[in-house]
Amino acid sequence: MKLQEYQSKRIFARYGVPIPNGEVATTPAAARDIAARLGGTVVIKSQVLVGGRGKAGGVKLAHSPEEAEKVAGQILGMDIKGLTVRKVLIDEGADIQDEIYLGLVLDRMQRRIIMMGSSEGGVEIEAVAAETPEKIVKISIDPFLGLRSYQANELAYGIGIPKPLVRQFTKIAIDLYNAFVGSDASLAEINPLVVTPDGLLGVDGKMVLDDNALYRHPDLAEMRDLDEEDPFEQEARRFGLSYVKLDGEIGCMVNGAGLAMATMDLTKLFGGSPANFLDIGGGATADKVAAALRIILSDKNVKAVLFNIFGGITRGDEVAKGIVAALAEIKPDLPMIARIVGTNEKEGRAILADANMITATTLAEAAQKAVAAAHGELTA
Ligand code: GDP
Ligand code: MN
Repeated sequence: MKLQEYQSKRIFARYGVPIPNGEVATTPAAARDIAARLGGTVVIKSQVLVGGRGKAGGVKLAHSPEEAEKVAGQILGMDIKGLTVRKVLIDEGADIQDEIYLGLVLDRMQRRIIMMGSSEGGVEIEAVAAETPEKIVKISIDPFLGLRSYQANELAYGIGIPKPLVRQFTKIAIDLYNAFVGSDASLAEINPLVVTPDGLLGVDGKMVLDDNALYRHPDLAEMRDLDEEDPFEQEARRFGLSYVKLDGEIGCMVNGAGLAMATMDLTKLFGGSPANFLDIGGGATADKVAAALRIILSDKNVKAVLFNIFGGITRGDEVAKGIVAALAEIKPDLPMIARIVGTNEKEGRAILADANMITATTLAEAAQKAVAAAHGELTA
């Protein structure tokens, strides 16, 4: 789950990271009131879940409450990379002398959390990595020891933090690490961490939380912003489906994550490409299958749908009935290919064949048929 800037910064602040005073507004009038309360120059920042808002015109300064109202009016409702701005953050303006990057990510290959720093803050770190990778310093953190202050010092010297700020930088690095671990995050980033006459200040924040750990953080789970989420991802979550959209043309509906990955692999092997990962989990009831099918078909790139079902505890004929009921409800006009194995597989296949689906016995056969159907070389 991605968090908005204002949410990320509030979490950072709980762990001790200095951030500007600020509040969120949804109307220009509210922005004006907040600016009046904060006094002086404020920065009006669009709250959307994408980077590069500054360049897109979604981060602007205002020097009076009147100007704050006007600028908020321009930014609210703006379209930034396909997302509509519904909230703005009004922060006290910072006197920026320099911009630094500080971030944490999980490196799955090393099985460690990595802290990254760069003197090139304020621009997207991907751009720094592509153009001047030598300006990124990385520290690998031992999960049992945590981030040690000598490592944070090394990072500070590596990116040229001015000497009088090293102590504060080291503390912020450790605070950010604690925020990352304490929230079960997969990413935590301050970009930029700015140098001001009063020391360092985190003016932008970004956090991604691990969905599988959210049950441990009911307070963080509540931060989910339904306005900002893809409606089909919301629907998937509501039905307990694991859905990841991809770029291919073959929709995949599979019960089991490992089986879903194997299905995607075989689809590729036979020259197709999967449109999604989708694990419908156990107990594939008709309404769950129907929800999954609606989600798959919402993707206009899909040319064929491949069902790969293992009938274990849920019997094959039960799943087949669920699929038929879902098809009756949705009436898709794309080729549907199904492979069912396990308990009552014959009965299951018979039910699907009756419903005009293309059936297969092995996964290889199913994948080949799905690829052929997607390329218009096979019809039911
Ligand atoms: P992003 O473009 O989505 O990463 O949004 P940021 O919050 O990082 O803002 C983009 C840029 O706006 C920053 O790199 C700063 O240069 C500038 N900026 C942000 N807040 C302030 C502020 O309070 N004062 C000033 N002068 N500039 C700011
Ligand atoms: Mn930024």
